[in-house]
Parts: sequence; C-alpha cells; structure tokens
Amino acid sequence: MTRDVIKRYTNGEVTVIWQPSLCVHSAICFHGMPEVFDPRRRPWVVLVGHATDAIIRQVEECPSGALSCERVGGAV
Ligand code: SF4
Repeated sequence: MTRDVIKRYTNGEVTVIWQPSLCVHSAICFHGMPEVFDPRRRPWVVLVGHATDAIIRQVEECPSGALSCERVGGAV
C-alpha cells in the first residue's frame, strides 16, 4: 500500500515541505546545501541554524516539485 506522504521541516522562519512520491533523486538539493539536505541522516532535512533565504533559493532548484516551502506566517 502506498500513501501520499508529506513531510514538513522548519527553522521557525520557513517551512520546507517534502513530498517523497515526487522526488526524482536528482541530488540537486544535497549537492547544493549538504548541511541542510543529507539523505544519510534522519531527519534528512535540518533547517535550524541555516539562512532562510538560502534555503528558499535551494528549494526553488528542485526540478520535480518534491520540495516546496512557505514562510512561517505567510506565503513565500
Ligand atoms: S532536488 Fe528535489 S527531486 Fe532532487 S533529490 Fe532533492 S527533493 Fe528530490
């Protein structure tokens, strides 16, 4: 049985939403920001301590739409 899983991660300023069913494993996110996106770690997304604007720019590089984000308290 497969279900549409949606994971959310936040640093208090931005929330990153990951939809694993859309991920095409391009590796763009973890090559671009390995300190934030690390598939060998659980949780694999850690935003705390990292610059919100840089996180948003990296999320926008995701080719499949598996990563998206929203500002806490308002849209990006
Ligand atoms: S950039 Fe997007 S599609 Fe590529 S590995 Fe990361 S989440 Fe998956």
